[in-house]
Amino acid sequence: MRTKRIICIVTGVLMLLAAALYFVLLMPQNAMDEHERLELPVETAEEETSVEEVSGQQKKEADLPDIDINSWEYVLANAEHSIGEYTPELGEIEGQKLDQRILEPMQQFVADARAEGLSVFLSSGYRGFEEQQYLFNRKVEQYGEEKAATIVSRPGTSEHQTGLACDITDEYYELKDESLENTALYQWMSKHCQEYGFIVRYPKDKEEITGIIYEPWHFRYVGVEAATYMVEHNLCLEEFVALYQ
Ligand SMILES: [Zn+2]
Repeated sequence: MRTKRIICIVTGVLMLLAAALYFVLLMPQNAMDEHERLELPVETAEEETSVEEVSGQQKKEADLPDIDINSWEYVLANAEHSIGEYTPELGEIEGQKLDQRILEPMQQFVADARAEGLSVFLSSGYRGFEEQQYLFNRKVEQYGEEKAATIVSRPGTSEHQTGLACDITDEYYELKDESLENTALYQWMSKHCQEYGFIVRYPKDKEEITGIIYEPWHFRYVGVEAATYMVEHNLCLEEFVALYQ
């Protein structure tokens, strides 16, 4: 009887010890398991965030118009990029020659500006290589080549030779200087040009990049998609083209 009681007590003590061991050793592990499980959603959340970041970057890139940058609308003519003796197929609008592919958007642009009560004057469109050469040579005779190049674009580097650019002024305010930006004409045209595929080609804050002074009269066709993107991201044509290099 006494031995049985002792066995009972020992068994009881052992069971208590086992229970104590269970709580001391296993519970923290359970707690850790739970902690790990708690961490999992956090890790998943982090992964989701990084997935979002990646898709954000893809979205940014996808945001770029899906265009062929070598297409005619994006031809770059500046001091660094000569277009040689490139000559587009020309059409005519109000006495100005332009690439015939932009006659329609130009017509619409001008018509809508007039519908706003504005007095639009197309002052200078296409200028060919030879005409530019003549203008350049005349300045060279007057000032020497170095100075001439700062006044007149060298033949092959004037955007007017692309046939995609047109100087637009107010019929009653033909002066081509910075003050033109204050005319109602420029206010409306600079605000709406991208809807017709045009941009203000030489903006005030891009002189360093374009190499040309601010010209609030010089509009250039690049197509609605590119023009809208450039306006939304405050890019000049040089910067836009560089995004595709
Ligand atoms: Zn111009």
